[in-house]
Amino acid sequence: MNAILDEHIRTLAAWLKETTRGVAFSGAGISTESGIPDFRSPGGVWSRHQPVMYQDFLTDPAERRRYWQIRKESIPSFLSAEPNAGHLALAKLEDQGHLAAVVTQNIDELHQRAGSRRVLEVHGTAMKVHCLECDKRFPCEAIQDRLEAGEEDICCDDCGGIVKSMTVSFGQQLPAAVWMESEQLCRQCDLFMALGSSLVVYPAAGLPETAKRRGAKLVIVNRDSTPLDDLADLVIHGSIGETLSAVLKVMGQADSR
Ligand code: NAD
Repeated sequence: MNAILDEHIRTLAAWLKETTRGVAFSGAGISTESGIPDFRSPGGVWSRHQPVMYQDFLTDPAERRRYWQIRKESIPSFLSAEPNAGHLALAKLEDQGHLAAVVTQNIDELHQRAGSRRVLEVHGTAMKVHCLECDKRFPCEAIQDRLEAGEEDICCDDCGGIVKSMTVSFGQQLPAAVWMESEQLCRQCDLFMALGSSLVVYPAAGLPETAKRRGAKLVIVNRDSTPLDDLADLVIHGSIGETLSAVLKVMGQADSR
C-alpha cells in the first residue's frame, strides 16, 4: 500500500473510532465485488438498455415486456451473489457502535444478508416482487422461472393485476418514510461515507451534500472520481472491500494497544 493511501486509511479509521453516529451510503459499486455489475460499467445491462420509466411501465405493454426482459437478464447475478468484504465490514462497524445505519441505493439486499441491521433502501429492493393491485408477493426464483419459460409480461395469478419488483423505477416516488428517515440520519451524523456510488442519481446523491452542509465529515470511497470529490474531506480512489478491510484492521490494532 502506498504511503498516501496508508495515511488515508488511518485517517478514516480514526474518524470511525470517534463516531457513534456515522452513516454509510452505498451504491452499486459496493456490490461489484460480489459479481453484480454496477450501473454504468461497459457490457453491463444498463449499457444495452434504457431504463423503463414508471409511467410507461403502467400504461404501455411493450415497455412492460422490455422491463421484464431487462430483469430476466440482470437478476441471475443478484440471485447468485454473496455479501463481500465491504458489506461485512459495514455490518461489523454497526455492531461496534460506530455506524448508525446504512442508507443504500442498492436493490440486492446484500447489506441485510451481511448482518447490517438498520438498512434504509431508498430505491427499494429487486429481491421482492408484488402485485400492484392486491399486493400478493412472488418469490424471485418463481418469477425468473416464468420469464425463462417464455412469459413476456407477468400478471398476478390471483387478481390479474400488474406485477412489479419492489424497486423504485425512474419516474416513481421514493418511499416517503424511508427517505425522511435517511435525510434525518444525514442531518444528525458527524461522519458520512459514500461508498461505490457515482453520485449522479438524484435525489439520493443529495444526501452527502445534506450531511456535509450540516457539519458532518464527508468521506468518498470510489474507484472513479465523482462530482462531489471536491466537497469531500477525504477521498479514497480504490476498492471498497480492500479499503474497509484495511480500515477495520487499523481500528483493531488501535484497540489492542
Ligand atoms: P453507479 O453504477 O452509477 O456507480 C458505481 C460507482 O462505483 C462507479 O463510480 C464505480 O467507479 C464504482 N465502483 C465499482 N466497483 C467498485 C469497487 N469494487 N470499489 C470501489 N468503487 C467501485 O451506481 P450508483 O451510483 O449506485 O447508481 C446506480 C443506480 O442503479 C442505483 O440507484 C441502484 O439503485 C441501481 N443499481 C443497483 C445495483 C445493486 O443493487 N447492486 C446494481 C446496479 C444498479
